[in-house]
Amino acid sequence: MTPAYRLADCHLHFEGSLPVETLEVLGRRAGHRFADRTAFEDARSAVRDAKTFLSLYADVCPLFESPADYGEAASAIARSLASDGLTYAEIYVSPEIAARLGLDASACLREIDRGFREAEAEGAIHCNILLDAVRQWGPESAERVLDVHEKTGLASVVGFGLGGDETSVPTAAFAGVYARARALGLRTSVHAGEWGGTESLTEALDLLRPDRVDHGIAAASDPELMERLADEATTLWISPTSNVATGVVGSIEEHPLPRLLDAGVRVAIGADDPLFFATTTAREHQLLRDQLGFGERTMRQLAENSWRAAFLSSSERDRRLAEIAGHHPPRGRTQPSVSS
Ligand SMILES: [Zn+2]
Repeated sequence: MTPAYRLADCHLHFEGSLPVETLEVLGRRAGHRFADRTAFEDARSAVRDAKTFLSLYADVCPLFESPADYGEAASAIARSLASDGLTYAEIYVSPEIAARLGLDASACLREIDRGFREAEAEGAIHCNILLDAVRQWGPESAERVLDVHEKTGLASVVGFGLGGDETSVPTAAFAGVYARARALGLRTSVHAGEWGGTESLTEALDLLRPDRVDHGIAAASDPELMERLADEATTLWISPTSNVATGVVGSIEEHPLPRLLDAGVRVAIGADDPLFFATTTAREHQLLRDQLGFGERTMRQLAENSWRAAFLSSSERDRRLAEIAGHHPPRGRTQPSVSS
């Protein structure tokens, strides 16, 4: 599936972006039950809420047994995203997952960086890294993530974010970590307003001052919060299939995305975990055309937003926006829409 516009996806997680073939290879090497694709697909079909999703994620992590495994996976991910029609990606990597597996987190991060560069040299897309702290492991764990960044100093690390169980450790505990991330020159994002409500999202905005938010769809129930997001031009990086799979939204047709767009909130679309949700970034965009009736103007706006919110230089961002401005979608793709 080729997207109509060049797209950036900056809401992807490393383990959740593995191509299924790489999952099988790593599974065979590790003697893990996911060496059998059917066993993985059965586990995937059992995901219905935050708990079952986080459990599947945790099941996949031990597939990595060495820094080299991470490097090999990084190359496979960059190639897979390129073949899915994406142009640029920022991918969350959790050094603390590697550390908990008994691996050298800095060596794993360097291998991921090497794997991305190697794949790019062979024609894959450019992938940058967002360092990810796991909320339920607390602020000390998040501080160690930044320690790894200080130690490795990789140019491909462009941002820092918080993921995991939104209902676990209170947001206030991470305010100092975010201040340190900014002082280190990193841009910031946070998973909020997904499994938590409007209060969780407001706290994240007030206490962490992120450049953008992953999910954030709880805002759709609060006109004042939507107005704030629109005024502050904070991008919500939304993943519709993920929201349905983890039970936050009943169906794509019920997704609050149109309400957020109508309120002027800046939205970009991400696949989150293509492996776990059996999706791709291009498929997420296509779903919005097919199931929410989004027209050309809205699709173009979503593509533009993906470049506006990416942690790229202003010259690179402007170049991509100019490309879209000069783009004329093929005849027959334009559909009438309530949202355009
Ligand atoms: Zn996510």
